[in-house]
Amino acid sequence: MKVRQRRNQIRRSIARPVPCPQCGAPRLPHRVCPECGYYGGRQVLTLKEKTKEKSSR
Ligand SMILES: [Zn+2]
Repeated sequence: MKVRQRRNQIRRSIARPVPCPQCGAPRLPHRVCPECGYYGGRQVLTLKEKTKEKSSR
């Protein structure tokens, strides 16, 4: 039996991380920045900010 061991098809097109225009953190292109949640110049993810908002009693 001839077993074809041709598994040389490595993903060459690896997405290179690009700096986020918002925070500058390296993120994958066409992906929402996990740091600030911005994509395409707009915030698409609502991240929990550590900054406490003014809690009005
Ligand atoms: Zn970002």
